[in-house]
Amino acid sequence: MIDAHLHVVPPNLPGVGPLSAGLRAHPDNVARVVREQMLAAGVTKGAAMGSWDSPPDDPLGVKRTLQVAERLPGLFAIGVADHRKTDREHLRGVDAQLADRRIVALKAYLGYVYAYPNDPGYLPYYELAQKHKIPFFFHTGDPYSPYAKLKFAMPVHVDEVAVDFPDVKFVLAHVGNPWMVEAAEVVYKNMNVWADLSGLLIGEEEQLLSEEGRATRQDVINRVRAAMRYAERPNRFLYGSDWPLAPMNAYAGFVREAVLPEFHEQVFEGNARILFGPRLGQ
Ligand SMILES: [Zn+2]
Repeated sequence: MIDAHLHVVPPNLPGVGPLSAGLRAHPDNVARVVREQMLAAGVTKGAAMGSWDSPPDDPLGVKRTLQVAERLPGLFAIGVADHRKTDREHLRGVDAQLADRRIVALKAYLGYVYAYPNDPGYLPYYELAQKHKIPFFFHTGDPYSPYAKLKFAMPVHVDEVAVDFPDVKFVLAHVGNPWMVEAAEVVYKNMNVWADLSGLLIGEEEQLLSEEGRATRQDVINRVRAAMRYAERPNRFLYGSDWPLAPMNAYAGFVREAVLPEFHEQVFEGNARILFGPRLGQ
């Protein structure tokens, strides 16, 4: 089972806390906790986000994510694209950093950062994603910060760059929740757009499974099913936990319930292998 979206370092986004105080711990401790979570959930590989606005010697903000990955076989990193940094030196640094095959994707934080996908500052990053044959993730949908602006995070804006960069695979994180049908339309219409099912419920295991949360949980399950039905592309939906926002095992149980059984193999493993390609290894 592959987890296409988790965090092992604080994302360092405007208005967002560390997600969990534990992510500030020594990489040894973070790796130990993530290993336990992965084992409990049956996850063998995971793609973990970097942090935004990193120092010049770490242009994609993945230094610490890679320190955790060194201690945890099966863990890979997703670099963060910053549309404000497009000078030659920075982009050359990004290009050089992408030679490290443990970096399996790039990501832009729409909404948290005030820019649309077609912002000129993102375009060189799409070119680099194409050059290195790695997918490009977008945060889409509800942000985890009151300072974020929703308009930038609406899935429909990804359509334009999906058309303009047909050789890049784009991923709509969180299926654009709550705009899941909008996200599904972008997936349906563009052969190079995918969606991850992370972050649709957050909280401790007790909250995720509580009686009070039952109606909400069922609503989300219904919306996931509707989105997948609308998109008609079960081959482009990916499992992701958004850990530490939810325990991996409990979240996997929720997604197992939401996704029809005939699509489990694809969503939990096969699709991620195709998306990430050879960088993920065997
Ligand atoms: Zn996330």
